[in-house]
Amino acid sequence: MTITLFIENDKDRSVVESYDCDFCEGKGCSHYHCENGKVIFRSSKWEVNMANGNFVTLMSALGINPGNENGCGAIDGRTLLDAINRFRPELAVRSTTEEHTEGGALFINCGIDSDYVTRRITKLREIATEAARREEMIVWG
Ligand SMILES: [Zn+2]
Repeated sequence: MTITLFIENDKDRSVVESYDCDFCEGKGCSHYHCENGKVIFRSSKWEVNMANGNFVTLMSALGINPGNENGCGAIDGRTLLDAINRFRPELAVRSTTEEHTEGGALFINCGIDSDYVTRRITKLREIATEAARREEMIVWG
């Protein structure tokens, strides 16, 4: 599961993948990615994808509610910039942990290193600056 964060009403989103919708067979329906019967995936330089756990860790370290029970949320660009300016990267760094279950399975949580935090914060700063310039909300889900 991943979270995508992007600028609302972003017109820079170009189509990266498109195929006939399985739900409505081209008639058009309310499925999340369905547009007039085509399932369309778009991408923009003003968006970022993160694993759920990493996203929650990063937003919590920024002092931002990572979202409702569905993992969706929204924030004003200037509010996010303020949070980034107060941010202490060490709060988001997590070491790798390994856990053996009684059944013998090994779960590895890869953690978050400081390079990852720096890259994501740099990207979030770019998105927040652009969102503030456009006076659009930043949304995720
Ligand atoms: Zn459809």
